[in-house]
Amino acid sequence: MSAIYNFCAGPAMLPQAVMQKAQQELIDWNGLGVSVMEISHRSKEFIALTEQAEVTLRKLMNIPKNYHVLFMHGGGRAQFSNVVNNFLGDNGRALYLISGQWSSSAVTEAQKLVGEDSIDSINIVEQINGLNQVTLPDLSAIDKDYRYVHYCSNETVDGIEIFEEFTSPWPIVADLSSTIMSHEIDVSKYGLIYAGAQKNIGPSGLSIVIVRDDMLKLPSLPQSSIMDYRVAVEHGSMFNTPPTFAWYLASEVFAWLEANGGVSAMADVNQQKAKLLYECIDSNPFYKNGVAPQNRSRMNVTFQLVNDALDSEFLAQAEQAGLVALKGHRIVGGMRASIYNAMPLAGVQALVDFMNSFAVKHS
Ligand SMILES: *Cc1c(COP(=O)(O)O)cnc(C)c1O
Repeated sequence: MSAIYNFCAGPAMLPQAVMQKAQQELIDWNGLGVSVMEISHRSKEFIALTEQAEVTLRKLMNIPKNYHVLFMHGGGRAQFSNVVNNFLGDNGRALYLISGQWSSSAVTEAQKLVGEDSIDSINIVEQINGLNQVTLPDLSAIDKDYRYVHYCSNETVDGIEIFEEFTSPWPIVADLSSTIMSHEIDVSKYGLIYAGAQKNIGPSGLSIVIVRDDMLKLPSLPQSSIMDYRVAVEHGSMFNTPPTFAWYLASEVFAWLEANGGVSAMADVNQQKAKLLYECIDSNPFYKNGVAPQNRSRMNVTFQLVNDALDSEFLAQAEQAGLVALKGHRIVGGMRASIYNAMPLAGVQALVDFMNSFAVKHS
């Protein structure tokens, strides 16, 4: 079988080396004669795994000491409600920046929990010369008291990414589900970072939460104990049985990242991959992309065929060429190539070659 390149937005492809290692040790992990799935989360072997995972993640992201690292349930969306329940007790209010589908879903969830009056939002994407462009508002000019400002730095569905780091009078809560560890960020600028694992970290269902210590002093709403950040801190993310296999795979991905030069090395390759693909789209009148250059996602490259009558043929032939899951999200249509850390440059090169030859055949 020739190589398959999987461009799925999530659950997404994982590094092949990690998958092979997991396969090898699936039924006999660490010489225990049983699978990592079959042992107690409180066993010394599993605890050692979790400690190593945290050490490596802290190193990869350069996480300061006054931040807690939590491994929680429920993927990205669970944190949409967790941040509200954990921080908006006593009639707290929050501000949300809307840049696309995911940040907009976060607003809907927050409003459901505390009502529309407690959640303000600002749309930060406008169409300028036909291209979607982000303009960050001057938050210091807003005379209101918020517990946090929430934003999503990479809109997985829309293909919009915000690379600018901004300042805010309130703690910044960031949904980094589809961009975590794809390039370096300054963690100390954030009150809380969360990410569903299935894009850049591991299997779905797991969420990584990185929270600054002082955030935990904010008043919370009554909530489920398994979703309470304070309880998670107190119990080392093991108040109840955590998703142990997902945690194990995440730890293997962290080790793989470290062995491959860490986040800055990933960022270099990610930049090359995105450049190659956007250059193909821009240089070929057969394809188009509607995002302003400075906000084009390096993780989720959305594009359209100018003649969309050819969409299904494009997808069918791509699949035959081993390039799978390129169909865009049902809300925005067109195509989307998700090229997270695990996607090798060769995969993007194969896609570009296919796109060029498809365009020649159909022009
Ligand atoms: C995928 C995604 C989510 C939702 O993750 P789930 O694990 O499906 O809840 C939230 N935010 C962003 C930016 C995502 O890409």
